[in-house]
Amino acid sequence: MDFMAKSVTSNPKSKIVVVGAGPAGASLAIRLAKVDFDVCLIERERFPRHKLCGEFISPECFRHFRDLGVFGEMLAAGGERIAETIFYAPEGKSVSVPSRWFNGDADGALSLSRAAMDFQLLEKAKAIGVEVLDETSVVGVLFEKERVCGVKIRTNVGEIKEISADILADATGRARILGKMISRQNAKTPDKRFSDSGKIQNPKSKIQNQLVGFKAHLKNVNLPKGACEIYFFDGGYGGLSYVENDLANFCFLIKAEAVKKFNSDARQIIEQLIFQNKRAAATLKNAEVVHDWLAVAVDGFGRKDLNPATNLFAVGDAGAFIDPFTGSGMLMALESAEILANAIIENPSADAIAEKYKLEHARKFQKRLFVCSLMRRAAFVPAFSRLLIAALNLGELPRKILARATRPAYSAEIKR
Ligand SMILES: Cc1cc2nc3c(=O)[nH]c(=O)nc-3n(C[C@H](O)[C@H](O)[C@H](O)COP(=O)(O)OP(=O)(O)OC[C@H]3O[C@@H](n4cnc5c(N)ncnc54)[C@H](O)[C@@H]3O)c2cc1C
Repeated sequence: MDFMAKSVTSNPKSKIVVVGAGPAGASLAIRLAKVDFDVCLIERERFPRHKLCGEFISPECFRHFRDLGVFGEMLAAGGERIAETIFYAPEGKSVSVPSRWFNGDADGALSLSRAAMDFQLLEKAKAIGVEVLDETSVVGVLFEKERVCGVKIRTNVGEIKEISADILADATGRARILGKMISRQNAKTPDKRFSDSGKIQNPKSKIQNQLVGFKAHLKNVNLPKGACEIYFFDGGYGGLSYVENDLANFCFLIKAEAVKKFNSDARQIIEQLIFQNKRAAATLKNAEVVHDWLAVAVDGFGRKDLNPATNLFAVGDAGAFIDPFTGSGMLMALESAEILANAIIENPSADAIAEKYKLEHARKFQKRLFVCSLMRRAAFVPAFSRLLIAALNLGELPRKILARATRPAYSAEIKR
């Protein structure tokens, strides 16, 4: 295949392989299939599946759901509309951020399990003609000269196959599976981990700052309907909101050293650490877990290499990971997929796609990622979080400014 000469746009039947069917990968696949690209979406899991996440879908995602043709399905899936997010300092002081500040939608955000949300997107992808290979893992990257030209996959029955592609997207989330494979194969440059400012981070500080995320669905929580509550405690924070079937999702992020101290036992962490937050103790004291806790190491905040090799583009968390307390990771996944889809549709070559994608990505996310990296430092230091909550209680304006700084500019035209 001569990729140099191939114009992606002039050939709408160019083959695009998207790896990972989270919100970034599935929405990218749908957007490209809608304009007649030949799209193959590869996902190692079988959907619906549980996924570690706060499951807070910010209202700015609705414009994307409408574009993708899944808005009605998302609302009908049985989640909870969230009118406000309330942040609680350990002693119980709180500050509220109404969801309508994000896009003016009076009905608020949506709290829906990732099992349901990701399933709806995958079903839409299938319906629109995307070839979906689920229970299939990508295990290698194929090269022709210095360009990526396909992937090696392992099917659910253990068969190894090769799939060729003109353009590939790494939508494997924070794991950045394809990007890491490229680094290992040393195809372009050694792996560089970018910080929010674009500087290379010190691997030592990475280990010291390692975090672990936990999540489970609970019954019998004592939480008002329509609210998402965030609890700060020594060494971390957690979010609680109802999802479907009267269950609530509780997801918390905590320093790895605290997890070690409590032998990775979520129950002990909650009772001995998180219950130091008075509000968390009140809402969670009778809660019962309805499935096993999911736990995963969480690191690699900030921007990554968006174009690890020619023809390969990183999208969603694989391209940049924003702090979970902003409740905007899924939004960034959908937004970055839209930017990449437009770059692929509008540009004639892999190099032109890369240039446009990097430019638009920086324009849209650089400031947001920087503000969030500063706020992350406050989130893990109780004295700072107390101070921040007290300061934000001084008035609506500082709250609005800070809340808006973590997300895209809101304009009336995005509210359809
Ligand atoms: C603790 C925590 C809480 C969060 N809470 C929220 C929240 O409340 N609201 C919010 O908006 N965001 C939240 N986020 C962020 C959000 O979860 C992510 O931003 C979002 O999932 C990114 O989507 P994605 O499609 O890029 O990746 P993912 O959703 O991670 O999807 C990646 C997919 O790739 C698949 N995959 C991986 N490897 C392979 C392989 N080798 N072959 C094939 N498939 C593969 C995986 O199975 C997965 O389905 C949270 C994150 C964390 C860590």
